[in-house]
Amino acid sequence: MLLDKVTVQAREKNIPIMQKEALLYLKKLLKKEKIKTILEIGTGIGYSTINMALVNDNIKITSIEKDKERYQMACDNVKKQLLTNRIQLILGDAKEIDLTEKFDLILIDAAKSSNKYFFEKFQYNLNKKGLIITDNVNFYNLINEKITNRNLKQLVNKIKKYRLFLEQHEHFKTSFIDVGDGLSVSKRRSDL
Ligand code: SAH
Ligand code: MG
Repeated sequence: MLLDKVTVQAREKNIPIMQKEALLYLKKLLKKEKIKTILEIGTGIGYSTINMALVNDNIKITSIEKDKERYQMACDNVKKQLLTNRIQLILGDAKEIDLTEKFDLILIDAAKSSNKYFFEKFQYNLNKKGLIITDNVNFYNLINEKITNRNLKQLVNKIKKYRLFLEQHEHFKTSFIDVGDGLSVSKRRSDL
């Protein structure tokens, strides 16, 4: 099956793909919430993108990747899975890409230090009852460890700050789900 090949490709190229249980949780959520349109930040080689598109034929996905080689591999994989009509891949830095469309769900899975930036930028592309999901908010459980490496420590602190940002957000209510590497699910408060 193509998706198994994509898993192997990702391992070879050292691309962190969404973990199995996190993906399973996400796919269930897509069904439950009847999600039709998705914006993904961080395509990688298309593993999570293709998985989400296969949930049902109504789902349309736009996904942004800044690395050219990964983008091209993702295009290849999407083609092989015959999903070019429902998956639009964009090559570029998501920080510089402005979209006007609105989506039912936004999945943030790119540079972990930029989570807050992406949340704040793309919240305007979210439909009224939409969800923003962020992957890796447990960051290999390092958020609970004492870390000495300086760069890693900075990154872990950023993730902790992001969690706090979500917890204290005025307009969104967030649940943290301990599946895979940790997902946050943020929903706009209905009273707004
Ligand atoms: N969602 C994928 C994995 C993505 S890995 C999956 O689960 O299959 C994270 C990806 O985000 C990397 O490929 C990296 O190149 C990309 N990325 C990081 N910063 C980015 C940015 N500013 N804009 C677009 N893509 C970015
Ligand atoms: Mg991830």
